[in-house]
Amino acid sequence: MHPPHLAFSHLKRRVSIERVLSARGVMSSLKQHRQRLIGPCPVHHGDHPQAFVVDRAKDLWHCFTRCRGGGDVVELVRRMDHCQYPEVARYLAALAQVSPTPARAKATAAVRVYQPYTRTLRLDPHAPLLAQKGIWAQTAQHFEAGAYAGPGFLQGCVAIRLHDPDGRPIGYAGRRLDPAQARQYGKWTFPPGLPKREILYGFHRITSRLHQGLAVVECPWGVMRLAQIGMPAVALLGIQLSPTQIRLLRQTPCIVLMLDGDPAGSAASRQIADTLNQYTRAPVRRIDLPQGLDPDDLDDVELARRLLPLLP
Ligand SMILES: [Zn+2]
Repeated sequence: MHPPHLAFSHLKRRVSIERVLSARGVMSSLKQHRQRLIGPCPVHHGDHPQAFVVDRAKDLWHCFTRCRGGGDVVELVRRMDHCQYPEVARYLAALAQVSPTPARAKATAAVRVYQPYTRTLRLDPHAPLLAQKGIWAQTAQHFEAGAYAGPGFLQGCVAIRLHDPDGRPIGYAGRRLDPAQARQYGKWTFPPGLPKREILYGFHRITSRLHQGLAVVECPWGVMRLAQIGMPAVALLGIQLSPTQIRLLRQTPCIVLMLDGDPAGSAASRQIADTLNQYTRAPVRRIDLPQGLDPDDLDDVELARRLLPLLP
């Protein structure tokens, strides 16, 4: 690993503090005074209107209240996401759409950088798998999910549209329907290079309801099923929690974790709850499902019975 200043120099040239703040939707809370941006601190999430200052010419930031410090764009991302330098490098590289290190930049120049796929696919919301999961055709349509009949990596899949946290479509995930394929390659398939860690599935649909608390599940089916009974939910698309997901989950006052009822799910659930307790102020509650059951295996009454008492 390069010393941070070397590894980061090419990223800092490409990604400004303003670019990061804009990607995170905090530019609107900052006021512009000549070459400075001033506003509440997005690092410690304070509400003092002059705590946080960005010098755009020098591309440096400073927080005069709780953080009592500041630095460059690297330090900003490191502190906002509570992450290590390699993670910061990956994040900045994704924003700049380049490789995280200059050395690797040459070696992997041929590797494709993920380009959001924005075309809308024609999907059949009456797929038997969706009915089996208790998802109504109307819900599937709303979430842009359904059987895909075309060619490509989604061939023979139920496809589900994915969005970035701001609601911009970035492509589709596929749930393989052929049991043999699902066994061999896994149930889910994602576009090559998709920045999965930058996605919290369903987040953009519930931003106006964050104050109500949030259920966090593993997979999109749970999000759709909970939507049908009026409960805001998001899916991790796995059992790993990324810095971006932590940052998004910091915005809700209460989190209920309901991962799949398998050994991987329950181990992950404890670990994720610990991480969230450390980095968010929201009380984190866990629902451990019986062995072998996923949220979409429960009926509506059972889902509500387990979730309702835990949300504010
Ligand atoms: Zn601060």
